[in-house]
Amino acid sequence: MSVYDKKSLKAEEFINDEEIKATLKYADENKDNLELIDKIIEKARLRKGIDHREASVLLACENPEKIEEIYALARQIKKDFYGDRIVMFAPLYLSNYCVNGCLYCPYHAKNKHICRKKLTQEEVKNEVIALQDMGHKRLAIESGEDPVNNPIEYILECIDTIYSIKHKNGAIRRVNVNIAATTVENYRKLKDAGIGTYILFQETYNKESYEYLHPTGPKHNYAYHTEAMDRAMEGGIDDVGIGVLFGLELYRYELAGILMHAEHLEAVHGVGPHTISVPRVKRADDIDPDEFDNGISDEIFEKIVAIIRIAVPYTGMIISTRESKSVREKVLELGISQISGGSRTSVGGYVEPEDEDENSAQFDVSDQRSLDEVVKWLMDLGYIPSFCTACYREGRTGDRFMALCKSGQIQNCCHPNALMTLEEYLMDYAHEDTRKIGEQLIEQELEKIPNEKVRKIAREHIFDIANNNKRDFRF
Ligand code: SF4
Ligand code: SF4
Repeated sequence: MSVYDKKSLKAEEFINDEEIKATLKYADENKDNLELIDKIIEKARLRKGIDHREASVLLACENPEKIEEIYALARQIKKDFYGDRIVMFAPLYLSNYCVNGCLYCPYHAKNKHICRKKLTQEEVKNEVIALQDMGHKRLAIESGEDPVNNPIEYILECIDTIYSIKHKNGAIRRVNVNIAATTVENYRKLKDAGIGTYILFQETYNKESYEYLHPTGPKHNYAYHTEAMDRAMEGGIDDVGIGVLFGLELYRYELAGILMHAEHLEAVHGVGPHTISVPRVKRADDIDPDEFDNGISDEIFEKIVAIIRIAVPYTGMIISTRESKSVREKVLELGISQISGGSRTSVGGYVEPEDEDENSAQFDVSDQRSLDEVVKWLMDLGYIPSFCTACYREGRTGDRFMALCKSGQIQNCCHPNALMTLEEYLMDYAHEDTRKIGEQLIEQELEKIPNEKVRKIAREHIFDIANNNKRDFRF
């Protein structure tokens, strides 16, 4: 039996099944212990986070008043750390060839009828132009695992192509990468290619379920997959994004697991995850989400988002178009800081949306709106859509980024950067009515920049973007 040790580099020690089970037992025993719950909420108010045991008690708590307190605190922390800004991104599917057998994903190797596609460099270029023409600046590239069809050299070539395309005023300024667990050497190559965040979802932290859900292929190896972020960090990538696929296992197990993973990264590397994603299993080709027993309601989903928000205040939280407009609306206020918009989850889908019998998509998109509709909707809700990519380009990654977050100084960058990148979007891509709303919003928001010098510079840059066709300013 392995013993829990968050500093260990062994998967079964830092994500320790005994510790998770003990945590869930402790949470059950204390779910009505209002004194303890108050103490945990008080600790969370210090904005330095809470640990997996404390978070699990809050998740188990069913007292409506306490839940409302947790939500109010999550809203406050979201507001204090992220203001009204929401960072925009889009996924780009490069290839759906995959040798793994994941039971919840239609790209699994046994699916013989799904349309397999892999973009050529010319197709990557066309997809990127289509994405730039929508207004995107930040991508997450996605690819199945297939050493023959999608070797690391292919991924690196695609990254190179993506960064090289300058179409009109467009540019992709940050490429985040979501590919299978790999070697330190390959992570070093990705780092050298200038990637932003390396994203890898754990899917489930429960080893037994993990092995059942990944019956074949290299992904079957739980330890290799779970220890991937440590290898990524060893390879020099210091912004990593973790996530679980809710619905596969008991959500309480997953919350404890994901927070233990965050605690492990912080303990070993001095920097926690850059982002946490919270996807839920969705319908797709031969995948029926009802076949998985652990689906969670919208209410539980919202509670999970709120608790992650207060547990790891400095970690960005991402939600995709897997979720509907109404769910997205609710979780934005509780903690989500990044969303995708106008997404296509099929290979080559930005240039040529697919018809029914040519399905290469990884999941069905619930939020089908265009990026412009999403941008306008966010502004109508009082948010500032941001296309900012400044930190990574200024070398503010890993512990440098976290140090700036913890000092509170990051706020002085994010807000003006959001306004300047929104102005670029409005000038180059927005519909007329979106532009009008945006211009008004920017005018009001400029006034809120506390530092007079920063306010003046931001105003000058916005003037130059609108009148002198200048681009790419950043703090
Ligand atoms: S989840 Fe990833 S590894 Fe699994 S089948 Fe889908 S693309 Fe392949
Ligand atoms: S300034 Fe940095 S933290 Fe803020 S939105 Fe831009 S990239 Fe993100």
